Amino acid sequence: MRTSQFLLATVKETPSDAEIISHQLMIRAGMIRKLAAGIYSWLPLGLRVLRKAESVVREEMDRSGAQEVLMPSIQPAELWQESGRWEDYGPELLRFTDRHEREFCYGPTHEEVITTLMRNEIQSYRQLPANFYQIQWKFRDEIRPRFGVMRGREFLMKDAYSFDIDPEGMQKIYQVMHQTYHRIFTRLGLETRAVTADSGTIGGSHSHEFHVLADSGEDPIALCSNCDYTANVEAVPTVGGEGAPPEGENPLTKVHTPGVKTIDDVCGQLKLPAGSAIKTLVVNGIDGPVALLLRGDHDLNTIKAEKMELVSAPLTFADLKTIHSIAGAGAGSVGPLGLSIPIIADHAVLSLADFVCGANEEAFHLTGVNWGRDLPQPKGADLRNVIEGELCPECREGKLQIRRGIEVGHIFQLGTKYSESMEATCLNDEGKITTLWMGCYGIGVSRIVAAAIEQSHDENGIIWPAPLAPFDLSIVPIGINKSKKVAQVVSRLEKELTAAGFDLLVDDRNERPGVMFADMDLIGIPHRLVVGERSLERGCVEYRNRRTGESEDIPTGELISELKIKVGH
Ligand code: ATP
Ligand code: MG
Repeated sequence: MRTSQFLLATVKETPSDAEIISHQLMIRAGMIRKLAAGIYSWLPLGLRVLRKAESVVREEMDRSGAQEVLMPSIQPAELWQESGRWEDYGPELLRFTDRHEREFCYGPTHEEVITTLMRNEIQSYRQLPANFYQIQWKFRDEIRPRFGVMRGREFLMKDAYSFDIDPEGMQKIYQVMHQTYHRIFTRLGLETRAVTADSGTIGGSHSHEFHVLADSGEDPIALCSNCDYTANVEAVPTVGGEGAPPEGENPLTKVHTPGVKTIDDVCGQLKLPAGSAIKTLVVNGIDGPVALLLRGDHDLNTIKAEKMELVSAPLTFADLKTIHSIAGAGAGSVGPLGLSIPIIADHAVLSLADFVCGANEEAFHLTGVNWGRDLPQPKGADLRNVIEGELCPECREGKLQIRRGIEVGHIFQLGTKYSESMEATCLNDEGKITTLWMGCYGIGVSRIVAAAIEQSHDENGIIWPAPLAPFDLSIVPIGINKSKKVAQVVSRLEKELTAAGFDLLVDDRNERPGVMFADMDLIGIPHRLVVGERSLERGCVEYRNRRTGESEDIPTGELISELKIKVGH
């Protein structure tokens, strides 16, 4: 391929709306262009990388014994009503109606479609185990699409769905997928960690996420200093705090707190640490609003809250009007004292004494509040995210460290969640009707491209791991339009190297060498050859490795054999 025939759409300026390096570099390298929020076109350079990621995923899925299928992107509402997710999924599901007023959605995932497909195709245990996958564009109306294709609304996913006759069968495929995922990410040059995860709206009992650890990652990951425990913070149970509350000493006092909006404002004004105050969050519940109490320095874990019987899922906060009608004050002054709605307190809240909370009166708070003495102790639960330094829930010895990760894959044991509600059964070896046991396995193929850049770049641009590189090798000729010799050698090398199986980009633009070097570095081609009169006089071309920056002269006669070693063909 020659740059004169290729849309090399590199840009010098860093785009102002790109916050993280992979997004900046994907725009600057001319890989993607934004069409609308979270919706991108892939230019030829970007698509080459995406296709490489896709082909590694496909090869390893095929090798694992999974079979490729392709299901429709547009899915009828009835299927989602059957599984119960038409209500549960919330606004991330893009819903629309056709000309006959029939409701549809654009698939954010395909459990419903595969279950209905396979309930018709699988009749006997003899057809099992079976695992089906597809590589296909999904749409999720993400509340905050950002970071380019890292969190897009439209994105390419590999999703697989397994079927077997019993839990053991399901677990076996799960293990195979676990290993397959390790192989896929290793082959792609990504350093990933498998972490224990929550199963979210997809459902089921067990799940693991595969994360690339990176500071720009959106997911906090807890790692134990003592044992192997690694989990998404949203899935980490908190340890301790269930003990009886200590006795307080201070009298209950009402204090004026004008103009405060947050717990930090309150504690700043009262000169108390945030950990001595409680925040009261009013959320919507199945029988009306519910108050959730958290320590001021703790964050609500929405997944844990949604699992509370009284709380509606997906979790939503009560509107201001509702808060006023139940508390007689705005959200900043709500507190549990005298509140007549159900109250659930995080365990850590119950071990506080002499704490601060809203007074249910505009611009007033209470200090010196104590359970038992001033108000009855509410029901306790685990409602919050763990924080750095807390005890590991697994070994109960090590301390948790919090790092950030980019989720590139997610595997679930679904059990019978979909097969039961959608009646996917088959006959077992005794001829009895049995519900199928399912698993599902996702990989964010387009996200992998961004994650690889986050993990591997320098100040000059992208450094592709070989399996993802858009081209193996670039040739930068010096003075191709002036020197016949250079032009001849480049043409010959182009033919020979292409015939030898190298994926080659020849920069035949009439540009200064510095501009061409900078572009080849920016787009991250792993190996570069410079063909110029001076080195040709020595019978050599100059070779440079993008990752190490090391360069050397290679005699033209040895070029192919040398490059085979360097490129790893
Ligand atoms: P996240 O927590 O990042 O929203 P998820 O748990 O919703 O991810 P899954 O439903 O497990 O994601 O989807 C499978 C894979 O698809 C994820 O592991 C991730 O790599 C990818 N993915 C999910 N949402 C997006 C998105 N908005 N943009 C790009 N990739 C995504
Ligand atoms: Mg999501």
